[in-house]
Amino acid sequence: MSINSKQSVKCPQCGQMSEVTVWNSITVNDSPDLKSDLLSGKVNMFRCASCGYTALMPTPMLYHDSDKKLMLSFSPTNDPVLKQQLFENIKRSSRESGELQKLTGYNLRFITDYNELLEKILIFDNSFNDKVIEVIKLMILSQDIDKSEQRVCRFGKCENGTIEFMIQDHIENQIYTSSVPEETYDKLFNSLMESGMKPYSFDWEAVDGTYATRLLNGFNNNMN
Ligand SMILES: [Zn+2]
Repeated sequence: MSINSKQSVKCPQCGQMSEVTVWNSITVNDSPDLKSDLLSGKVNMFRCASCGYTALMPTPMLYHDSDKKLMLSFSPTNDPVLKQQLFENIKRSSRESGELQKLTGYNLRFITDYNELLEKILIFDNSFNDKVIEVIKLMILSQDIDKSEQRVCRFGKCENGTIEFMIQDHIENQIYTSSVPEETYDKLFNSLMESGMKPYSFDWEAVDGTYATRLLNGFNNNMN
């Protein structure tokens, strides 16, 4: 069941009070409209009617797609220490409450970045596994290794057997696209599966660039 609450928010820019509907939980099966609002970046986004100031509400949200056996736990933060604490908290509470045992065969993802949340939904909607996608993103960024630190690569879409990625360069202030044949994904998926990658979760996972580096290192070790 999707759950929301109303919050009164004072605009940090002009001081105008607004009432904001904040979603704490989104269940895709009974709220398809809410999902499309989320994908267009409208959910839990404060927008001041008076001055137009926009900001993400600092509210954690759980996204559940039972058809895809996907659960995304979103806790917005930029603080790496807090991120680690929140990640440990969800793993512990999920284990202690017995919830984890009920989620056999699920992909469970812990996310702190709004754009990453939307990206994960798109990846699983396209029937891809984000672990493989993260490895491909790493490969794309490593093509211009000097600039990899200033760039963010995100899954864009999959059309006619081609997967398109968007690369945002924060220094050059440019957006590039990069395409990879779907066949590359399939080959990589099989190789990673052979090297021990699990296509579902046994616990909450943070699947990002760091995760992909570890996965790739394990893969290389198994190749030796
Ligand atoms: Zn305002």
